[in-house]
Amino acid sequence: MKIVLATHNAHKVTELGAILGASVPGLDLVGYDGPEPIEDGASYLENALIKARAAFEHTGLPSIADDSGIAVEILGGSPGIFSARWAGGRDNIANRQLLLAQLSDVTAVNRGAAFVCTIALVGPEGEASFTGIWPGRVATEEQGEHGFGYDPIFIPDGFEVTAAQLEPEVKNSMSHRALALEQLASYLNAMVG
Ligand code: IMP
Repeated sequence: MKIVLATHNAHKVTELGAILGASVPGLDLVGYDGPEPIEDGASYLENALIKARAAFEHTGLPSIADDSGIAVEILGGSPGIFSARWAGGRDNIANRQLLLAQLSDVTAVNRGAAFVCTIALVGPEGEASFTGIWPGRVATEEQGEHGFGYDPIFIPDGFEVTAAQLEPEVKNSMSHRALALEQLASYLNAMVG
């Protein structure tokens, strides 16, 4: 089964490819180099659908796309869908610094947050979506070298280290993206019977 992975983000291709390739036998995951649509949806789901629909229209093949972000409780769920551009540009360091500054007076108990990932699948047979949530809290300083984005300032529940201090295999076994992908994998495995 050939499925197009509609993302230009190399980190995501690696993470999604590693997780999905292992759990769906016979899956041929192919990259997408078509035009990227404007992500102007109002939710993770709307944005994931915009990207997956564009890839499906461009390739004619079933396409998946994800939209993800970090939701901070005391900020009412922000940065949310604006995570990638929280500080104005696509600058991960500036994004993290801004978030840490916004929470500088917030004590540990109120620093609850979650990574959220919604994956949309769009194909000739219709549309489906899958969401994974990875709860934790925002650290008070950056630590760790692995991962990307907000990983160095996100401490997952059950850990005292940041997601960027976890080995990639550990993160990939429990992250928001892994949880959404698990649901997608079950769906795809059921489809091919
Ligand atoms: P997207 O490409 O629009 O889905 O942007 C998602 C943004 O959310 C990324 O640029 C990161 O800033 C953040 N994000 C999503 N997933 C993760 C993760 O696994 N680790 C760290 N940051 C993440």
